[in-house]
Amino acid sequence: MPTKYKRILLKLSGEALMGNNSFGIDNGTLAAYAKQICKLAEAGTEIAIVVGGGNIFRGIQGASQGMGRAHSDYMGMLATVINGMALQDALEQEGAEVRLQSAIPMEKICEPYIRRRAIRHLEKGRIVVFGAGTGNPFFTTDTAASLRAIEIEADVVLKGTRVDGVYTADPEKDANAVKYDTISFDDVLKSQLRVMDMTAFTLCQENKLPIIVFNINDPEALGRIVEGEAVGTLVS
Ligand code: UDP
Repeated sequence: MPTKYKRILLKLSGEALMGNNSFGIDNGTLAAYAKQICKLAEAGTEIAIVVGGGNIFRGIQGASQGMGRAHSDYMGMLATVINGMALQDALEQEGAEVRLQSAIPMEKICEPYIRRRAIRHLEKGRIVVFGAGTGNPFFTTDTAASLRAIEIEADVVLKGTRVDGVYTADPEKDANAVKYDTISFDDVLKSQLRVMDMTAFTLCQENKLPIIVFNINDPEALGRIVEGEAVGTLVS
């Protein structure tokens, strides 16, 4: 059966890899994500993943303690490469072929980011993990997700979060918050809802790239989205 999305860009935050811990990588959580992702890959979906680094280090953290922001952001980017290596290993243990590409070249451990090469890997059925964000300080991995998705001509950005979509208010704080099934880019801006940071969000908007926000901890969600079911919130 043909799926709705042929090529996806999945954004996995660093925090998603912590599981119930408050720091680092939880192997069980990682293995569970790897299982879901590999199932999709085996069914023929082309999958690129941008991984965050917030479970290890965020630039803002260092900057708040007096470190230079740019320097500290580079440390954050290195954290995403550590996560990328962990994710690569977990996916490979599930039997997938995986290439890790870093926006900051580190030839001993991964490929440098080369757009055409990334696309070629996807066409061959390999999962591509993008590390080191955009390679530039003062950006986030959400922006890297939007940028890479546009570059590789992904059909959609799938942003996995702890909540199952975009709400009228923060559902973890406001019991009356109502979930949107679909919402336009303009309405997200008008209502000042937080989907991604502004740089990431406007990149998607300007390039007409839909975003789906969904619960990464729902083991069925990813598969259902790719098949075209209305899961999470579609921003388009
Ligand atoms: N970062 C950066 N440029 C990028 C992407 C990331 O400087 O293009 C740094 C930034 O310091 C950020 C850290 O890497 O705080 C980790 O990424 P992020 O906070 O986006 O990870 P997530 O919140 O997804 O875990």
